[in-house]
Amino acid sequence: MVVKYKRVGRILAFAAGLILLVSCSEQDLAHIKLVAHLKKYDHAKEFMIERNYQQSNPISRDDWEAMFVMGDSDKFTPIEIGLIEENQKLIIEQNKAEAIRKSKIDIDPLRNDPDGLAKFCHQVPKGGMLHVHPYGLFTRDVVLDLLTKYNPTIVPEYFITTVRNQGQVLYDNEMEALRTLPESSPFLSLSEEQQKLFLSYFFLPTEPVAHDFTRFDAIFAFVIWLVEDENLDEKMEILYLDFLHRAAGDGISYIEFTNGFPPSVDSINKLTNWSEKFFSETGVVVRWNLGQLRFLPAEANAEMIKAWNALLVDNPTDAVVGTDLYAIERGNPALEKAQNAYGYLSGYNSEHPDHPLQMTMHAGELGDPRNVRDAMLMGVSRVGHGVLLKDDLLTLEYARNLKIGIEMNINSNHQLSVHDKNAAPHPFLRFLRLGIPVSLSTDNDGIFNTNISKECIAAVSTTDVSYAELQAMSYNSISTSFASPKTKDILTNRLRQKFTLFEQQYSN
Ligand SMILES: [Zn+2]
Repeated sequence: MVVKYKRVGRILAFAAGLILLVSCSEQDLAHIKLVAHLKKYDHAKEFMIERNYQQSNPISRDDWEAMFVMGDSDKFTPIEIGLIEENQKLIIEQNKAEAIRKSKIDIDPLRNDPDGLAKFCHQVPKGGMLHVHPYGLFTRDVVLDLLTKYNPTIVPEYFITTVRNQGQVLYDNEMEALRTLPESSPFLSLSEEQQKLFLSYFFLPTEPVAHDFTRFDAIFAFVIWLVEDENLDEKMEILYLDFLHRAAGDGISYIEFTNGFPPSVDSINKLTNWSEKFFSETGVVVRWNLGQLRFLPAEANAEMIKAWNALLVDNPTDAVVGTDLYAIERGNPALEKAQNAYGYLSGYNSEHPDHPLQMTMHAGELGDPRNVRDAMLMGVSRVGHGVLLKDDLLTLEYARNLKIGIEMNINSNHQLSVHDKNAAPHPFLRFLRLGIPVSLSTDNDGIFNTNISKECIAAVSTTDVSYAELQAMSYNSISTSFASPKTKDILTNRLRQKFTLFEQQYSN
């Protein structure tokens, strides 16, 4: 009997060795194919520069996609795809365990303690917010202040026409309600009830909970009407200061705003002066990303960015740090809408170490799922949202290798039907555990009725994120920012001190 067992044991050991041998070589092959595939990404990145920086000759979609086609010999088998997925799962489990081990505070009990969680999230040190749109920051108080101060004349039909012409949406009941207002009336002549009704158009309705982007977009018809006149800067200053005071109250020390500004020395001076003024009044370091509206012609955005780049080379400032492509992603794919500007900057930046503009781009919120890949190949060092990266295994590998920063906005994603935070854990945590430097932000603080503390609440209450991982995201919000190395050092040191103090106080 003993002999028999021994023999069976030997056979089993041999079989196990064989399986190991087979799976090892499959693993190797999967890895070799992965490396070869990611090399195609590197080539595409160079091709992007060649065609948009050296030749000003944008790449067609067909030529672009042809760069990623895999031949019969380098095509992944389903088993190889499974192995890459397994490897990612392993990394996720290891990093999760490591973060739990490193966590100085156990936040598990807070997941079922809303008051305790709110207090924790308010107090826990934050770094910066890298994804903030000024036109989305209005609170009811600020809108009311501006409407009262400037007393504009309200013509409901103007909004109905504008929203319709721009492909935006107001729900039928909202259209009807808007039409109950007088045909034309100064704000202060409306009854209190009418004023309240008009004010509601600056925010998303709470029913339903999630909306299409076109409903969200309609709010900007009201915001633009409210602010864009000869008093624009004065009004925006009220808005910026209101927001920055609130952000400082939530522990934020650094903000990057994305907004459009015409390329001019006046703009540079204005943004530099604002950064200085806002820092002295609120203690928050403010930097600016030049916005490119993605529905505009790609050539127009490229022209603007080239003009900005040249101006900033001649008139350096710490205040203006980058560029960002934004507005509705659906129907405005990254390749067709951004390669002229981003491909140019990617080439310029690779030749000029002291280049003034870094790059981020809204990608992977909705629309073409290839946008995150293409943003990365256009040379961005960060991506806004990036949610759809969850469905693109190979680009996820590329992002992991490159350590591309991702600006995550959980409540925005929830309200714009990008990701239902209650239905499944938000992918920010999967990305973070894969070693991608994710940070949390708010997108449009006022419209989504959120702030960085509420984003923390959303993260903790809907996932199993640990304290060390929240900490990592705070540090990422500084390390992946576009601030100068010196500013990053100062902010990182300050954040470290805040965490030490917080941990002492919180556990007592
Ligand atoms: Zn955004």
